[in-house]
Order: sequence, then structure tokens, then C-alpha cells
Amino acid sequence: MDGEKSRNSATIAAQGLGWTDPVTKAVSPPLHLSSTFIRDPDNGYASGRAYARADNPTYNQPEAVLAALEGGAEAALFSSGVAAATSVFQVLAPGDHIVAPKVMYWSLRRWIAEFASHWKLDVNFVDMSDTDQVARAMRPGQTKLAWIETPGNPLWNITDIAAVTEIAHKAGAKVAVDSTVATPVLSQPLSLGADIVMHSATKYLNGHSDIVAGALVTREADDFWQRIVDLRAHQGAILGSLEAWLLLRGMRTLFPRVQIACRNAMAVAEHFNGHAAISHVLYPGLKDFPGHAIAARQMHGGFGGMLSLRVKGGEAAAIRAAAKVKIWKRATSLGGTESLIEHRASVEGEGSPVPDDLLRLSCGIEHIGDLIADLEHALA
Ligand SMILES: *Cc1c(COP(=O)(O)O)cnc(C)c1O
Repeated sequence: MDGEKSRNSATIAAQGLGWTDPVTKAVSPPLHLSSTFIRDPDNGYASGRAYARADNPTYNQPEAVLAALEGGAEAALFSSGVAAATSVFQVLAPGDHIVAPKVMYWSLRRWIAEFASHWKLDVNFVDMSDTDQVARAMRPGQTKLAWIETPGNPLWNITDIAAVTEIAHKAGAKVAVDSTVATPVLSQPLSLGADIVMHSATKYLNGHSDIVAGALVTREADDFWQRIVDLRAHQGAILGSLEAWLLLRGMRTLFPRVQIACRNAMAVAEHFNGHAAISHVLYPGLKDFPGHAIAARQMHGGFGGMLSLRVKGGEAAAIRAAAKVKIWKRATSLGGTESLIEHRASVEGEGSPVPDDLLRLSCGIEHIGDLIADLEHALA
């Protein structure tokens, strides 16, 4: 990692903000499972806590760590990445207009289209890597939200966060960025002007494929943010205490995990670029990848642990290769210590923009020689 700020972030993550317990001298924080909190004799709540659907002391530290890593004012944990993302849309009002990417996390895109029609939101799905298209889609005064996902799952399209933010803000719209794949190790969207960052904490933040969790971080604790925090308390899409505690534990190793995953992804991309069995390698770290220059500008220290390979033999050959791996695990999801492979079109189904010869790879932290040898064997 380069720069003072990155070093500080690595330290913040490794030490969970340097917290130690003043009473017990514990280095690792306690896990609060209580659903309710004592009311004072004067009928008040001096602790500031009444009931765990609104306040959970086990959230304090992971939320503070995340806010620090993203350079935000506040963070909020949710029961899943999708619960975090959908909250941002649910505080919009009927008649509002949204601009969202054509290529993005598939089940969220499907939900947006459905919710928009029920809730009477207008939505345009555009190619977010084309800033002219984004500018043409904006309706000043009516557009209230521009949703960005970069790198965009699973083609890894890069969106210029600063450029889209400038366009959206001019139209009076908020900008939210799904930064699950970039992680706060590689990118800080808030520093590029975005208003909200979203993470599926199920992925890199936790990093061990053993919880489902989500998070939002805001640049400013404004009215829009307060509506989201209130919605979480009212709808109850809250994270369990144990999951919050595991997430904090997982974030301690965020930096080394992401750094190794980036190195492994780059090595796999370079190895299979021009390979006899592969027609295209989709990875923002490759110099000839469209969006590489923007990625190099807005990501620091790596291009992420995700890439896709398009297999020359088409759909059948891609599925056959995924069936033959021994070290890569054939499963959906991403961002764990173990490398995962999946035939993505089978997951997304009808209407998906994903080519049927595409294998999505989530690089873990295993030895790179094992990962490449296993793929070579599967593609042979
Ligand atoms: C997994 C994922 C989500 C959804 O998160 P869940 O924790 O599964 O609800 C959203 N965006 C991206 C990019 C993801 O990878």
C-alpha cells in the first residue's frame, strides 16, 4: 500500500480502531446479546439504549471501523448486503427518478426494476461507464439517486465515480456506490464525492464465508441518512450480535486478505490472457481492459480479487471446466479466503447480460501455483 492514509487504514483494521476494554483490559471486544436495556428509575434511558432493533452495542465498533476505513461520518450494519442496498431505494418517494447500471449485481437489479414499478419510481438502466449516457439520463430536480457499482459484477466494468458524481450532483441527485468488490482497501468512493457507500459485508469485509451481512457508510449524517437509519429500526433488517462480532473479527485481516487476493487475481488474469482455451479475460488490472485507466486512477494498491474468463468452447465447455476443478470451489458468492468459480449465466437466468461462456472467479488467498495448475487441468 502506498501513502500515509493507507497505512493508517491498515492499522485501523488490524486493531479494530485500537479498542481495549478499560475494565477487563480485554483486547477483543465483548459480544452483547441482550435484546433489551434497563430503564432508569426516573423513567429515562441514560444509556441511550432501549431495545436492540434500534441500538446494539455490538455494532458500535464494527460501524466505527467501517466509517473510519471509508472516511465517512457514520456507518450502519444491516442483515445482508441486499437489505443495506434496498434501504437506500426505499427512502425515495413515488415520482422520484433513479439512474442505475445495466451491468450490476443481478438480483439487486431485478429487485430495483420490480420495486420501482410498485413504488412508482422512474428508473433508467444505463451504461455507467459512458458518462455521456449518464448525463443524458439525468432529469434535474427529479433524479434523486444515481447507483454505481464498480467494478461491476460480473463483467467488471469500471465507472468513473468522480465524473458520475459531478453529473449527478449537478442534477440534484445523491450518489450511492456498491463498493463490495473494490473494498475500502482499494477505493474510497466518499473521497471522490459519493454520498453513500454500500457493502455486502458477506464478502471481503468479513472474508470467511460464514456470515451474511451488509453495511452502508455515509459522507454526511444528513436527513437522507437519518431516514435510512430510521427505516432500519422500523423494518428491522438488523444484523445479529454474533454476526456483527464475527464481522469485526473478519475486518482485522481485511488488508492482507485483499492484497493477496489482488495479487492472485492479477496472476491468473495474466496467465490466461491469450491462453489457447480462453477467448477473453475480463479484469480491470489488464492494460487493454476498457476502463483500466480509470480503475488505475480511482483504485489504489490493486484491481480487486474478481475476474471472469470466457471459454472458447462456449457454454458447454465452460460448465465442463467448472465441473473439473479440485482446488477452486464451485459455488456462488465471493471475497472469502477460498477461491470460488461459477458459471454465472446459470445463476442469473433469463434477461441477464452475461455471456453463457463466462466463468466468474473469486480469487482467495491460496498459493497461486495451485490455483493456476487447477484451472489449467480443468480447461485441458
Ligand atoms: C453479494 C453482493 C450483493 C448482495 O449482498 P448480500 O450480502 O448477498 O445480500 C450486492 N452487491 C454485490 C456486488 C455483491 O457481490
